[in-house]
Amino acid sequence: MLQHQRRVLRKNTVFERKGNLIVTDRGLQSLIIGQVQGDRLQQQLATTHAPGDACERAKVALDPNTLTMGFARRFTAYKRPNLLLSDPDRLYRLLSHPHYPVQLIIAGKAHPQDGAGKAMIQQWTQFLHQHPDLASRLVFISDYDMLVAEQLVQGIDLWINTPRRPWEACGTSGMKVLVNGGLNLSELDGWWAEAYAPELGWALGDRNEHDADSDWDRQEAEALYRLLEEEVIPLFYHQRDADGCPCGWVAKVRESMSRLTPQFSSNRMLQDYISTLYVPASHLLAARQDRSVAEAICRWQKDIAGHWNGLHFGELTVRSEGEVHHFGIPVYLDDLDANAIAVQLYANGNTDREAVMYPMIRGDALSGGINSYHYACDVPAGRPAEDFTPRIVPQHEACLVPLESQKILWYR
Ligand SMILES: *Cc1c(COP(=O)(O)O)cnc(C)c1O
Repeated sequence: MLQHQRRVLRKNTVFERKGNLIVTDRGLQSLIIGQVQGDRLQQQLATTHAPGDACERAKVALDPNTLTMGFARRFTAYKRPNLLLSDPDRLYRLLSHPHYPVQLIIAGKAHPQDGAGKAMIQQWTQFLHQHPDLASRLVFISDYDMLVAEQLVQGIDLWINTPRRPWEACGTSGMKVLVNGGLNLSELDGWWAEAYAPELGWALGDRNEHDADSDWDRQEAEALYRLLEEEVIPLFYHQRDADGCPCGWVAKVRESMSRLTPQFSSNRMLQDYISTLYVPASHLLAARQDRSVAEAICRWQKDIAGHWNGLHFGELTVRSEGEVHHFGIPVYLDDLDANAIAVQLYANGNTDREAVMYPMIRGDALSGGINSYHYACDVPAGRPAEDFTPRIVPQHEACLVPLESQKILWYR
């Protein structure tokens, strides 16, 4: 252990400064992991009364000079934590390669009621039992928690994430890896769908959704093995300079750190919250200290509540001319002030297009009605006119809608 620590210190040299980023020697990643996770594995085996020889083997698990891959997350079907196990023989060959081996650290928990998740953990432990010779290369760390995650993201070279699109909301562990100088190989889902470029890491998937299609799972597993065999492993072991430093790998780490860390961090997240939400909200709050503003808001709320059920639309008309759809609709406002609401034209998002909303503009009063107006708007004919639906929402310059009023009246 002491020897390990000394090696960590000796190797803990700044590799290069780029702006305010520091890229360290790659060897360091694996050293930390070998020491910390090896210790943890020994403890884990000891508490489960594993045979003495298994505990002994844990002492030499994980080699600092071997490409180290990490896969850690909740074990649940959509994360496909057994995709790497689709072809166990192929995985075995990867892990046991005599010249260019890889080592894999798996960590994770399944929800107690998630039978499929638990079965996937069993699949990994079975694979481990069937291949005792892989004990130094394949490690399952139980009780995945923030401490394990912290050590893993510091120590791994490659972080693998294989969710089924579009289920990955974000994928924050891949971002944690960024700042620690690891590279990502992930499905193009969640954050990686936004962040990926070939210079920064590796991608799985075609950006389309395939549900739980087992054929597609097979194809993605094949792509995953192929990426590892043909791209990831060669990049790590080839192109080494005289000091043994993997130049192509380090170039990718630099690119990934310098381009992605400023963009995918909690600093940026907080900045976004501050600029788009907290600051505007604090201005609105300050404006409300003025009694007349507060009273106007109360009147507006009361008027909306009192007249909302009386609002209704007339017949929608659409005229399509060349590149433009002209939409028009009469709106009957009961006794509500027309400034208390907004009429909008809305279209849902779908696989090809984002959701869009256009304000409809209030025109002339209708001569055949009281407090009723014609609303209109022109939109580009890129989307079919049937995609669009008018709606009425409350509006007040001193309030945030829909935060402060959730009412909405759809045309149909
Ligand atoms: C980061 C982290 C997660 C979330 O990881 P995802 O990639 O977003 O699924 C879950 N559990 C722990 C302990 C973590 O540290």
